Amino acid sequence: MKSKTNTVSRFLLDLAFPNRCPCCDGFIKWDMLVCGKCHRAVVPVYDKVCRKCGKEICICAEELFYDMAAVPLRYEGPVREGILSLKRGNNKNFGIYTGRMLAEIIKNDFRSCRFDCVVPVPMSAYSLRKRGYNQAEVIASEISESLGIPVVSGILFKNNTQSSQHYLKRTERMKNITAIKINKTSLNGMNIILCDDVITTGSTVNRCAQLLKSSGCGSILLAAAAQSKLK
Ligand SMILES: [Zn+2]
Ligand SMILES: [Zn+2]
Repeated sequence: MKSKTNTVSRFLLDLAFPNRCPCCDGFIKWDMLVCGKCHRAVVPVYDKVCRKCGKEICICAEELFYDMAAVPLRYEGPVREGILSLKRGNNKNFGIYTGRMLAEIIKNDFRSCRFDCVVPVPMSAYSLRKRGYNQAEVIASEISESLGIPVVSGILFKNNTQSSQHYLKRTERMKNITAIKINKTSLNGMNIILCDDVITTGSTVNRCAQLLKSSGCGSILLAAAAQSKLK
């Protein structure tokens, strides 16, 4: 898949830092996001995923605060590599790639819904300094551009916690989740696309959705690049 944005700057950047496939690390042309081989290996499992909770192993029995979900990929193989390279902070390609994939799904499958903005799952200031960007926001920006609605990243924020959600034990995970807060604001019936890279237990996105609902938003669509099959 080709990249269209910032053509000149990407070309110049490529002279200094050659473009690499985020999934296999092979060199690719400066205007590509993913190499042809990995593009063919990234197979959406969207049809197998619950449209309400976004998981293959449905978690709808839990209390969920978001209303619908678009989560096209499974966190394994080249998808896992692509997301890890996005998380490591050295390659945004996979965020752009999956952001465009999500935008197409939203345009086709959710065309009867009118969304007002895209809200990325927040990152702590410490992690943001370390990585240089919020990976959920990279995906959110592509959705925003494609749908012509703004990214609103100031509503939710996260206090500093010790490490990333993925490696934490259950009690630490809870602490990590409650570190997400909302700025006092009235969302007054706004319909929101809540964006993240990977959902595992769904508790992080659910916390965000709960906070957004408590501020009076309308419906929430969870748009995430991938879900891990584990509960
Ligand atoms: Zn590749
Ligand atoms: Zn479900």
